[in-house]
Amino acid sequence: MRELIDKLSKNANLCDYELKHLIENISDEDLKYLNITARKKADETYGKQVFVRGLIEFTNHCKNNCYYCGIRASNKNADRYRLSEEQIFECCEQGYELGFRTFVLQGGEDMYFSDDTLCKIVKIIREKYSDCAVTLSIGERDEESYKRLFEVGANRYLLRHETADKDHYQKLHPKNMSFENRIKCLETLKNIGYQVGCGFMVGSPFQTTDCLVKDLRFIKDFEPAMVGIGPYLSHKDTPFCGYKNGSVRMTLILLSIIRLLLPEVLLPATTALGTAKADGREKGILAGANVVMPNLSPVSVRKKYSLYDNKICTGEESAECKFCLSNRMKSIGYEIVTSRGDNIKFLKGANKNV
Ligand code: SAH
Repeated sequence: MRELIDKLSKNANLCDYELKHLIENISDEDLKYLNITARKKADETYGKQVFVRGLIEFTNHCKNNCYYCGIRASNKNADRYRLSEEQIFECCEQGYELGFRTFVLQGGEDMYFSDDTLCKIVKIIREKYSDCAVTLSIGERDEESYKRLFEVGANRYLLRHETADKDHYQKLHPKNMSFENRIKCLETLKNIGYQVGCGFMVGSPFQTTDCLVKDLRFIKDFEPAMVGIGPYLSHKDTPFCGYKNGSVRMTLILLSIIRLLLPEVLLPATTALGTAKADGREKGILAGANVVMPNLSPVSVRKKYSLYDNKICTGEESAECKFCLSNRMKSIGYEIVTSRGDNIKFLKGANKNV
């Protein structure tokens, strides 16, 4: 097993069979070695620094019905909200004062936010905070929409592919959603020039090791600037409420493998990981992650953006969230930094939006 880990660390690749063997058979002791090896790799590029992104969950309205997600359209128990433009700008203002230099606007697929409305918001944020990056995470839209948002200054786009296995994709989503379109959106975003993030849930219902190997292969080939992964966590008001949560251990295995496959990738230790285990995010950083995404949404709406049950950080003000994360990182020898935190490799490329 150690030879495999060393090989992965050296040539940033393994064949599918080797990846499968690693995922399925790694012992606790070898997992420690994998995590340390991946952490070293992250240290070589990013040192002891962890980037922060201010997450603004601006709407929980969604037209989709993903079987796993708590804000799915059919969930009648979801208490719906939309932040006003002013509220979004207030979040940015607070975030800026706290030192955040990336704002992530995330939401359900809410048609209330037309291209015009979103472009206006992005433009104002980029003009007011010209030293900040704007990341969008608002699902599938058409090429024209992605282009317009890029033209007004959006820099990055997070769109998890959710699974790289078509059959698995269809088990997680209703018929009107397609795997092909998800992947097409990712390609389109990349071609436009966004720094793109893909990703998936670990332990989502019906996921097999073969699915995970496909996910890793997809990530390696697609070469995203960012990869978001976290354990699947069940939500009581979804069709998947009876399925068990994904494992923290498997998430830590995969974070490390992803770090070794793409040494420069921006890899968050996600809120889902922190929800699944009290020190999940610290463990994620020690497994090779290098980003944390504290919440900047108004406390009044935090609980309503409920993708899964028992989400953490729903009661604290933004300043407290930053302080808490900063201390958590310090406790493991890392510090959060307030630079924009672009992907180093991407910055060397030609088509950046700065
Ligand atoms: N509407 C946007 C943002 C989705 S929310 C989009 O489609 O991209 C961001 C991510 O949360 C999703 O991509 C999904 O991977 C994750 N998520 C949703 N429900 C979850 C659950 N029950 N457990 C863990 N992660 C979940």
